[in-house]
Amino acid sequence: MTVSTTAKTYLNHINGEWVSSLNEEVEASINPANKNEIVGYIQKSIKEDLENATKAAHGAKKSWRKMGQAERGQFLFKVANILEENLNEIAETMTKEMGKTLPEAKGETARGVAILRYYAGEGMRKDGDVIPSSDKDALMFTRRTPLGVIGIITPWNFPVAIPIWKIAPALVYGNTVVFKPATEAAVTAAKVVECFDRAGLPKGVVNFVTGSGSVIGQQLIDHPLLDAITFTGSENVGKRVAKSASSRGVKFQLEMGGKNPVIVTKDADLDAAVEAVISGGFRSTGQKCTASSRVIVENQVYDSFVEKLVQETKKITVGDGLKEGIWMGPCASESQFNTVKKYIELGKEEGATLITGGETLTGEEFDKGFYITPAIFGNVQQTMKIAQEEIFGPVIALLRATNLEEAIEIANNTRYGLSASIFTSHISSLLKFIDDMDAGLVRINAESAGVELQAPFGGMKASSTGSREQGEAAKEFYTAIKTVFIKG
Ligand code: NDP
Repeated sequence: MTVSTTAKTYLNHINGEWVSSLNEEVEASINPANKNEIVGYIQKSIKEDLENATKAAHGAKKSWRKMGQAERGQFLFKVANILEENLNEIAETMTKEMGKTLPEAKGETARGVAILRYYAGEGMRKDGDVIPSSDKDALMFTRRTPLGVIGIITPWNFPVAIPIWKIAPALVYGNTVVFKPATEAAVTAAKVVECFDRAGLPKGVVNFVTGSGSVIGQQLIDHPLLDAITFTGSENVGKRVAKSASSRGVKFQLEMGGKNPVIVTKDADLDAAVEAVISGGFRSTGQKCTASSRVIVENQVYDSFVEKLVQETKKITVGDGLKEGIWMGPCASESQFNTVKKYIELGKEEGATLITGGETLTGEEFDKGFYITPAIFGNVQQTMKIAQEEIFGPVIALLRATNLEEAIEIANNTRYGLSASIFTSHISSLLKFIDDMDAGLVRINAESAGVELQAPFGGMKASSTGSREQGEAAKEFYTAIKTVFIKG
């Protein structure tokens, strides 16, 4: 990698100021489509920086909490407008920094705008309920109250949407935040924070610190001034968050991995199923926590489904996501690329059949990036690692089932329970699936990876801690309930 003299340096945002790390060290963020290109430099912060950010959030929490909810919502409307004005530039940065194609990056940024407007509207909605008291002379009601300072740690796969679906509800419900983004996508995150800053939020309400997860991330989750922590990322780090937060008795929320199944029954519309599996499995290069990674097909239609799936997968164009006509970008980083390659080899060693893809692309343009072709394994057994572990790449495992009962059993045979989908035209099959599938998102005749911002999002089993993000459900995490009793 060459040092760039033109790439911009992005700062931390602490107590309303854009500041360098106290040690003045920076780290380059590189383009996974071209590892010689530096997208920007970010601060390689040290513990003192994080300490300052946390103190600032703590210092601002009283006045922010006192401000009315409606007024806090007005700030979010402003942020939404600023993000919308800068949508193209931010989406382009996202594509350059983590590789997803430009149309997907634009879609994600537009989603960020919509999330902001949704939570801005929350400013005008009720913050409690009146409950009849058994004392007829009393008034009893609940009021939502902010938690205080929220620590926010996000991954690189949705560098605009995930930070916003955490920061926006945290703010509107009256909390201040310390936000540590994934290093892999920290330039994009800095541009999101610029939108919050330009909306004129009071100082200390949104604080932003970049740097290593194991240093400042760990310090953030252990910090005594935090009142709650929300995390999306790997199970490994999630467990650390759980341990640290529960030892201090603070609220925490974890969204982690998935090994999301799609069931294709003998009466399914196979063309629709193929389209959904390709979209769910390979968009964003398979780097979605809701990505389809296991496809369980009833024996009667297995061969015809696989034939169509392979035919369509071979049409996928892989390349730099900024280029027109490219459907799938590179893996987001060298380490993701190596992980995917490792699982491709593992699948072969385990005895699965690599039907198509899984090749590292080479040649002038491809040598500079982390490109791999979308892979489909057949003959996969439930116990294989490629059927059990989250790969987070463009790899689909095909499994056979003799009937629906067995298909659901296979689908549930995983530690995870984030998202699951079924393709069927039988009402009894879909009702059984809804009842028996252990997943937080259960989708019928639709891809596993769709999420709507106004609906609860989250998983079961090892995918989540059970609390939900987005929509009205976010209020449960970002507030506490006070039950008020007034005797007349
Ligand atoms: P991590 O869990 O390591 O990273 C997620 C976030 O946690 C990043 O901001 C990271 O910072 C931070 N972090 C890392 N270590 C610590 C720590 N000790 N204390 C506090 N914060 C920490 O995920 P990876 O990016 O390494 O991805 C690894 C795997 O995780 C993927 O292959 C995938 O399987 C899964 N994953 C799941 C996601 C989901 O949406 N459910 C999203 C991303 C990953 P930094 O970037 O500086 O390391």
